[in-house]
Amino acid sequence: MNGYTIKVAAGDYELSEHAEDERQADRIPISEVEHALLGGCILENYPDAPRGPSCLVLGYASDDCSFCGGRVTERPVLKACWWGGQLLALVDGVPAGVCEQCGERYYRAAVLKQVESLLQTQEHFRRIEVPLAEYTAAG
Ligand SMILES: [Zn+2]
Repeated sequence: MNGYTIKVAAGDYELSEHAEDERQADRIPISEVEHALLGGCILENYPDAPRGPSCLVLGYASDDCSFCGGRVTERPVLKACWWGGQLLALVDGVPAGVCEQCGERYYRAAVLKQVESLLQTQEHFRRIEVPLAEYTAAG
């Protein structure tokens, strides 16, 4: 947790009247504001802003799929790892959040760093052969 998330988690923060008016006009519950702040990341820092130190945070109001709103559940997946259009490897058992509705996958940053590390060492890699065919139109 960084400084702002500690304050949000403890409820030790203030909303300006303007921010509160906007929140109410857009019908955004406080719980969604806090969820977005607690799970978000700081995009820009403004330590010397005229009204005091502030930052721009990117966060989402829920853990639901940001594309379709479907429920996202955690499960291991077979991840194809591409680099510049070249398939480097398949990594099995990668933990991901998978949308039950549209299938979109969400990977935690720490998981992607571990996958990248595995690809660099290539320890315990097995080779598999996969049949490859060229598509031809039916006729
Ligand atoms: Zn989805």
